[in-house]
Amino acid sequence: MSRPAYRRILLKLSGEVLMGDQGFGIDPATVASMAAEVKAAKESGLEICLVIGGGNIFRGMAGAAKGMDRAQADYMGMLATVMNALAMQNALEQLGVHTRVQSAIQMDAVCEPVIRRRAERHLEKGRVVIFAAGVGSPYFTTDSGAALRAAEMRCDALLKGTSVDGVYDSDPKRNPAARRYDRVSYDRVLSDNLKVMDASAVALCRDSNIPIIVFNIREPGNLARVLAGEGVSTLVGPVED
Ligand code: UDP
Repeated sequence: MSRPAYRRILLKLSGEVLMGDQGFGIDPATVASMAAEVKAAKESGLEICLVIGGGNIFRGMAGAAKGMDRAQADYMGMLATVMNALAMQNALEQLGVHTRVQSAIQMDAVCEPVIRRRAERHLEKGRVVIFAAGVGSPYFTTDSGAALRAAEMRCDALLKGTSVDGVYDSDPKRNPAARRYDRVSYDRVLSDNLKVMDASAVALCRDSNIPIIVFNIREPGNLARVLAGEGVSTLVGPVED
């Protein structure tokens, strides 16, 4: 599938892709391999914004299900995303990629606050900007954070790196006949409740006309292939095949 050449992208990685086979937390070797993917994409000339989830450490919903106050648990989830952002910053800098972390929850000793115009300057200078703490408010997720930052940073596409190779019409793990879409519309994703991103994130991308590309980040070299329009992925946009 041919794709327009993107100038600036936002890559959203769920926290789970940082834990490797561990089942919890941060696996440094896995983070290093994700960083290598980002470096390769960067070397193709792209400006890259990153948003990383926190589900490998803590999810507010999981805390709430065990009796915690939801908002309190969500703040813990946001702090988890900051830890992941710092781990990714470390891995990228070890590969010689310059980065800045900007957090929606101010944390002056470890990172910058989110300042859009400063983020613009970082991108111009060739730095990867890692946005942490989602939107900075409970009851949201890092998917919404990714859509928000993609819109405000005027990214050409939001790439969602997960452990599946696209969007299916039903769960491929349960239904062997599940069909993967090459292209699917925002409206179908929302009306059929397809598991791509939160509805609020999909709606924000639709309203800002930002294509969402869902692909398997665990496959080495896949990010660069997908950006070249070669890899297996699903494009969520205004129209479908
Ligand atoms: N979170 C939040 N507001 C945000 C972003 C994240 O409250 O804007 C909390 C929420 O509890 C969420 C957790 O942080 O469950 C981790 O983020 P997420 O679940 O999006 O991580 P992922 O599934 O991508 O690993």
